[in-house]
Amino acid sequence: MKILVINCGSSSCKFQLFNIDNGDVLAKGNAERIGIDGKLTYKPAGKDEVVIEADMPDHKVAVTMILDQLVDKDHGVISDVSEIAAVGHRVLHGGKYYSESVIVNDDVKKVIRDCFDLGPLHNPANLIGIEACEAVLPAGTPQVAVFDTAFHQTMPPKAYMYALPYEYYEKYDIRRYGFHGTSHRYVSRRVADFLGEKYEDLRIITCHLGNGSSFAAVKDGKCQDTSMGLTPLAGICMGTRTGDIDPAIVPFIQKRTGMSADELDTLMNKQSGVQGISGVSSDFRDLAKAASEGNERAQLALDMFVYQGTKIVGSYAAAMGGVDVIVFTAGIGENTYDVRAGICKNLEFMGVKIDPAKNDGLRGKEAIISTDDSKVKVVVIPTNEELAIAQETEALVR
Ligand code: AMP
Repeated sequence: MKILVINCGSSSCKFQLFNIDNGDVLAKGNAERIGIDGKLTYKPAGKDEVVIEADMPDHKVAVTMILDQLVDKDHGVISDVSEIAAVGHRVLHGGKYYSESVIVNDDVKKVIRDCFDLGPLHNPANLIGIEACEAVLPAGTPQVAVFDTAFHQTMPPKAYMYALPYEYYEKYDIRRYGFHGTSHRYVSRRVADFLGEKYEDLRIITCHLGNGSSFAAVKDGKCQDTSMGLTPLAGICMGTRTGDIDPAIVPFIQKRTGMSADELDTLMNKQSGVQGISGVSSDFRDLAKAASEGNERAQLALDMFVYQGTKIVGSYAAAMGGVDVIVFTAGIGENTYDVRAGICKNLEFMGVKIDPAKNDGLRGKEAIISTDDSKVKVVVIPTNEELAIAQETEALVR
């Protein structure tokens, strides 16, 4: 069965076509600069990348161009678009409505629209992507929405409520939702398989550390808590995002500088985090290089990241009454072994023992990095959100 996975942004459309029977990626790429000029990068498996620069006024044209490449006589990977059994769409926000992926119908589209306020940058683009596929694929091709928030919907109210007056929850749906859910679900399930354990028997802390970073506490096979909140700004400090700060800082800065709500939003989302602290970069490779050359603020940014990460993992162990497995994933979690080592070293008091021979130098591979006698297993599991979306799509349409 062939499943097309689509991840639409406001001016882009990333895609991967899977043969889900064996997990192979048949082709992948990205349509960029939609509505500006238009550039399609298309990479069929085992063949050279193709770059097409052509007018792409909207997402419908972009999807049509992607499909044209998939069936192209020279570098296509299928003979007809009817071979695409279903399309799985990454959708940022499903609000409080969906705890699982769903086949798209009018009600689902209404929910995605109702959540525009909660995901103003992503949800409108995600819906445009769905409607573009509906318009250009053969009628009846199922579209599946896979929500970034869904996995976290099992959190109990004590974990997702904010201590604002209750009517703010009732009127405006202000609560913790959490993000990266597809990744947290995928790596937490995968680690149980990898260790040969029953998923429901494990207390797992998943650390998705990338440009955006979040943690999840998973017990009895369900998410109990997660570090991102109403928006992806909460939790650990990130590439350019503040993570948790004293909320009173926002009106404080506003009164001192006269910044508008939008300017404050930009400050906290785009100019803060390890970039804001270091003044060097949001990229951990640049930070590590600068720190090794004696840049103190780059070192401070790295120290803050490790310290805050330690506190979140420690608090989730307390919340679950212990932890059996810690999983590292995403760009930093899979590659930056100093960060893994730093967090784990701080957790030695809980019986976490990392093995430098297994950890140091390990990049992007599934592996146990704790010692045999560590009370807590520490494992690296590369995330694969696109494959997870394809698998969830297949499960729903089969
Ligand atoms: P992500 O958002 O998951 O793509 O993660 C991006 C972050 O991972 C950046 O801060 C990178 O510096 C970091 N990273 C560290 N090592 C690597 C690597 N070998 N490949 C990709 N990303 C890396």
